[in-house]
Amino acid sequence: MAVQEIAFTFWTWYPAEKRIDFAAGKDGLLGYSAAELGEGDSLLRSLLLPGEYIYFVHTFKHLLTGKIPQCTFKVEMRHASGKKVLVQISAQITRCGPEGQPLEVSGLFENTFSFLTKKNPLQKSGTLSWYWHIPSGYCRLSGDDLSFIGLDSAALDYNISSCKNLVHPDDMSLVINAFQDYLQGKNDSIEVTARLRHQDNSWQWIYCRGQVVEYSKKGKPIVAEGFFRNITREHNQATEMLRLKAITDQVMQSASMSYWVWATKTDIITPGPGFLSLLGCDENIKNFTIETWKTQVHQQDLPAVLELISTTLNGNKDSDFIQYRVRRKESGWRWLAVSSQVVERDGDERPNIISGIIQDISHQKAQEHELCRNNRKLQLAIDAARLATWEWDLVHHKIHINKRWGEILGLQLPEEIEEALFFENIHPDDLYHVQQLFDPHPQRNSTYVKAEFRMHHCLGHYVWVFSQGQMLYQKKLYQKNGRKSKCAIGILQDITERRLYQENLERLATRDFLTGCGNRLFFDTLFEKELSLIKQNADRIASMVIIDIDHFKAFNDSFGHDRGDLVLKAVSTTLMKEVGENGVVARIGGEEFGIILPGKKAPGALQFIDAIRQKIRGLNLATLDPVLAGEHIKITAGVTDVLAEKNPRAIFQAADRALYRGKQEGRDQVRMEPE
Ligand code: GH3
Ligand code: MG
Ligand code: MG
Repeated sequence: MAVQEIAFTFWTWYPAEKRIDFAAGKDGLLGYSAAELGEGDSLLRSLLLPGEYIYFVHTFKHLLTGKIPQCTFKVEMRHASGKKVLVQISAQITRCGPEGQPLEVSGLFENTFSFLTKKNPLQKSGTLSWYWHIPSGYCRLSGDDLSFIGLDSAALDYNISSCKNLVHPDDMSLVINAFQDYLQGKNDSIEVTARLRHQDNSWQWIYCRGQVVEYSKKGKPIVAEGFFRNITREHNQATEMLRLKAITDQVMQSASMSYWVWATKTDIITPGPGFLSLLGCDENIKNFTIETWKTQVHQQDLPAVLELISTTLNGNKDSDFIQYRVRRKESGWRWLAVSSQVVERDGDERPNIISGIIQDISHQKAQEHELCRNNRKLQLAIDAARLATWEWDLVHHKIHINKRWGEILGLQLPEEIEEALFFENIHPDDLYHVQQLFDPHPQRNSTYVKAEFRMHHCLGHYVWVFSQGQMLYQKKLYQKNGRKSKCAIGILQDITERRLYQENLERLATRDFLTGCGNRLFFDTLFEKELSLIKQNADRIASMVIIDIDHFKAFNDSFGHDRGDLVLKAVSTTLMKEVGENGVVARIGGEEFGIILPGKKAPGALQFIDAIRQKIRGLNLATLDPVLAGEHIKITAGVTDVLAEKNPRAIFQAADRALYRGKQEGRDQVRMEPE
């Protein structure tokens, strides 16, 4: 008989009569008519899928024995068409006999066919209950929605072994142990967290809890019940947190850091990983308190630590920081940096929980110590070398200097001086050069600078100093302020003594010791210089003069060598005086002098020298020695244009030829070449 499908119906079961009444007119349930289904309860029971029957009976047993006041559950049944359908049954006792025996049970019978066929979104949260008939291995899940763990109830075959297949292999032993421990009485309930396979093949973390609810007379467990909860999200979050914590702990440990949490009321300090060993304590120590902590601190640092603890406990300050030494387990001490933070206060604003970070900074401290030692050594070396140091802030025009500056300049100077003060004290002749050198944005290739210059001493004289340093460039600043460097750093030395010695040496090397005028080296050097100037400047002219004292041998012979020396000096003095700024005079041989006259051509030079010749001739030699009264010094000179010949040697020879001619033709005269 074809019947129309219906969604639900009310029913009433009369256990004693083994009869079920379905609400009138509600035909079509599971493909049968109400009359067919109501005929005894055997058809209905036969329609329950294998295994479901046990569950069905078990649930009803609970209801009929008063263990539960009512029940709602889903069971799978066979539709007349042969299809599996899920039916929701709710039941409650509606009438009892005089001894309390149930006479009438009523409820709702719902065809949830639509639920089975409907595509449910794969919700992954919620709770399911489970039921396990241990002797038969029958096992089922029930709840509003099985799909949250990706299970398709239609596909399940209600068997413990197929349920086991859903468990992640790695978690299987956990699950088995949880059941065994419970059955052996080790735990009050079956409790386990394990992964179950979702139908999309992902693994879902499931929290499972349950108990045996029925034992046989011999005490064997018959039925176990419990619930499942999908905790994948929480589990993943917890796993992620654990992972992050592990990373944090690892990072902390690799930085020789740890943390601590101090509950002040109970004085319990919870140490982070590695905390105790950082503090030099045994890692296995139990009940670590602030007193234990104090015992680890170096005696010298203890007052500061106690002070900090006291102010943190009694004051309003929320955070603090301190460095101190603690006992190293093996030997010696280690430096720690400890920060503290009040994280919770009680109603009276007193700290409840204080927490902080602890870090081993022994290595940094050792480096700091080494740095200090090196600084001291460097300072000693600077002092020993009597070096003045400077650090020049080229942006703010200030120079940081050391004490030595004051000693060099004879001044009381502060540690920082204005750039202007430095420049003010430089000799005017050297100022431009020094200013150029320390120009922050010059066109230079090197950042290294050095200079020798004179600085004003407070006593009025100048001291010679040598300074060298390094410009420290910063491109950004250059772009911002149009200045290329931010600062320069260097040293300055008093070199007055060396400079005088050097000047003396130079003088000795280039001066004729008898007459005080330049010597041959001096003459040659200046002559070369003049030639190069002439090469650079086509308009430049110059003459060369060679002078020789006439019959000087005879003079020496007559008056002695000493008087000859006096004459040489007198000639030299007259030449230098008369030539003055017009040129340079040098003694280039025994009684021979060379003169370079820049700006004079040979004829002009001839006239100029001839006037000097007459001056020398007119010298009163009696002023040198009365014996020489009435004597006269005569000289012969040869003049040539520097441009007349190509090379220095030829120029010299030309002047010498002119001199020779003068000698030849009677001496006491000035000749030039070419004539
Ligand atoms: P002439 O007019 O040709 O130059 O004759 P002269 O005697 O000056 O020339 P000569 O070259 O023969 O002699 C140069 C003399 O100069 C010889 C030497 O005794 C003298 N003489 C050279 N150097 C010195 C010196 O340093 N002191 C003195 N007193 N005489 C010197
Ligand atoms: Mg001579
Ligand atoms: Mg001579």
